[in-house]
Amino acid sequence: MLPTPHSGRFPAAKAAIANLPQGIGVFDAHLQLCQWDHGLGALLLLAASDLQVGLGSADLFHLTILRGAFSPADGETLCHQLRELTERQQPLLIEQTRADGHTLHIRSVPMAGGGCVLICTDITERRANARDGQLSLKMFLHAPDGIIFTDGAHRIVANNPATEQLTGQESSTLTDCSVFGLIHPAHSGLLTGLHQHLTERGGWDGEFEVIHKSGDKVPVSARVARVDDQQTGQPSNYIWLLADISERRHAEAEMRHITRHDTLTGLINRKTLVTHLTELLPEARRHQQHLAVLLVDLDHFKLINDALGHRIGDEVLLQVAHRLARLFRESDYIARFGGDEFVLILPAINAPADAAVVANKIIGALAAPFVVEEHELHTSPSIGIALFPSDGDDGDTLLKNADAAMYHAKAVGRNNFQFFASEMNRMTSERLDIERKLRRAVAHDELSLHFQPQFAASGELTGVEALLRWLHPTDGMIAPDRFIPVAEETGIIVEIGEWALQSACRQMRQWLDDGLPPLRMAVNVSARQLRRHDFSETVANALAATSLPPALLELEITESAAMENPHHVITILQQLNRMGVTLAIDDFGTGYSSLAYLKLFPIDRLKIDRSFVADIEHDLNDRAIAFGAIALAHSLNLKVIAEGVETESQHDLLRSNGCDEIQGYLLSKPLPSAAAFDFLHARSPARPLNG
Ligand code: C2E
Ligand code: CA
Ligand code: CA
Repeated sequence: MLPTPHSGRFPAAKAAIANLPQGIGVFDAHLQLCQWDHGLGALLLLAASDLQVGLGSADLFHLTILRGAFSPADGETLCHQLRELTERQQPLLIEQTRADGHTLHIRSVPMAGGGCVLICTDITERRANARDGQLSLKMFLHAPDGIIFTDGAHRIVANNPATEQLTGQESSTLTDCSVFGLIHPAHSGLLTGLHQHLTERGGWDGEFEVIHKSGDKVPVSARVARVDDQQTGQPSNYIWLLADISERRHAEAEMRHITRHDTLTGLINRKTLVTHLTELLPEARRHQQHLAVLLVDLDHFKLINDALGHRIGDEVLLQVAHRLARLFRESDYIARFGGDEFVLILPAINAPADAAVVANKIIGALAAPFVVEEHELHTSPSIGIALFPSDGDDGDTLLKNADAAMYHAKAVGRNNFQFFASEMNRMTSERLDIERKLRRAVAHDELSLHFQPQFAASGELTGVEALLRWLHPTDGMIAPDRFIPVAEETGIIVEIGEWALQSACRQMRQWLDDGLPPLRMAVNVSARQLRRHDFSETVANALAATSLPPALLELEITESAAMENPHHVITILQQLNRMGVTLAIDDFGTGYSSLAYLKLFPIDRLKIDRSFVADIEHDLNDRAIAFGAIALAHSLNLKVIAEGVETESQHDLLRSNGCDEIQGYLLSKPLPSAAAFDFLHARSPARPLNG
């Protein structure tokens, strides 16, 4: 028997049936209601009091029209059909839309002794679900992305074909497995965050790699959503969407490759190598390991390029890259820095000697000729090695020093390698040697002055420049260019310069006394001397001690020294100027003169540097600078002297362009004291010697 709202015979089923979207009514042979359930009234929108034993079917449908469930027409049709079919012992099956839009499925089953059972079901939701379900199913089956449903414990319940493709596993294998098993162990770190997000926000987005059955890793972009049970509020399911992003990753990797590699050789480029170096140094420091930077430059590569063209040159570079790459281990880094320069990093070498072994291997590997088309080409490497930590603490310094060492390797004959340190050592030891010897030079009378005559454009003698000479008892003559820089760096120049100044003044005094006409004595002054606040006193003392008329002394100050601290220099030069000493700017054109300052300096002369004079005939730039300097000097009311004049044509060019004075080998080399006296005496206007 059917449960009725009044009967308590099926208490357990009662609750369940109450929730079903179904209603049942039983009619006797006279089509009068004899039993019904709670659902019937609910579905037909009748009040509980409307339904009574003995209610005729016509009255019942009349009530449904009255309560607004059906339109009068629908209600009457239903009533009519039910009576007709029941009389004919036939079932009724009809879908009827209620006035409020709900769809009812109405069925009647005739009973053997007459009468019928009427079953109404609300199928609104089922209909909608079916429609949705069909759509969902289509999407599920044909989606390009993997879709996985899991239960609340993350076990796979269902997955679509795309998931099978992604994982290489059949659904039957996947079902019941933990969805986390698909994530590559390398990404297990993200699980904590994933769980947290799912709990707190109900969803998670991220990227990881899925393990394919083949062992491959497939990068995916994943989206996970939590589905909660409406009743309990507990997670009942999770939905995973997995989009294969291999292609995107591939494109990204390609892009990265292009920006990090040299297009010709495929080796890493400078930027990447520098990045690696920056990362490797802290590690080497931590483990107290050596690291070597080798800079490899191909000897005479330019000749190949120039003679045979870039295509052949590129092919050689490519072959060089291959040979180098074959020499090295995974942990080493080889980069092409552009041109014919390659740089290697050897991390974690045991001793500097290891770098030498590698350098020798490189030389060996490049020794065999390179065959390109019909050409057999030879090139050799010059290799500079800088070591961490001894040759530098940071990437820039190491590269710079490896470069310096490479130049040294070129200088000592190419096809070899040089450590930066040893080059440094050689230079410092030479420096120390010169410094040590120089300190004794003054006391031991090893220094002397030579004098180079200077002439007016007309050919008339105007003066001499005093130039230091150092005759070492065992090393012989040491050129000023070797010892003056050391003297400047160590400060010994102050003492030497003072000696030169005194000696030059004394010499000119002597020559005057020996009957030479008054000539200008030019003395070089170093930046170091000029920096001293008592410099003008030193000059005054020298003049006083030798009683040389100040007007016969000219001081040559290099352009760079003058511009080092112009304010201070102006003060010193003004003091000297007031004393009557004349002043010249030496090496003019090599520094960066500020015209504003040049105007303020109380100077008399500009000396055009000999480097411009050397090429004045052929180099239009040099000529422009030289002639520009002449014009500039004249506009500032200064005289111009050109030094280093070696040829007649240089002389002619300068003279015809208004240069006032000339100095150079053409007219005379610097001469030792006695020879200078003879030279000056012969060229001076006749004047009796000492009466
Ligand atoms: P500087 O002041 O520019 O001196 C001119 C240099 O050019 C001298 O070299 C001279 O011998 C050289 N020279 C002269 N005519 C010619 C020529 O026609 N062709 C070529 N190629 N060279 C020519 P030196 O004597 O070797 O002196 C080199 C530098 O040493 C000087 O360059 C100067 O800067 C420095 N120096 C020399 N003596 C002293 C000194 O007493 N004190 C200071 N502070 N520096 C000095
Ligand atoms: Ca000079
Ligand atoms: Ca000069």
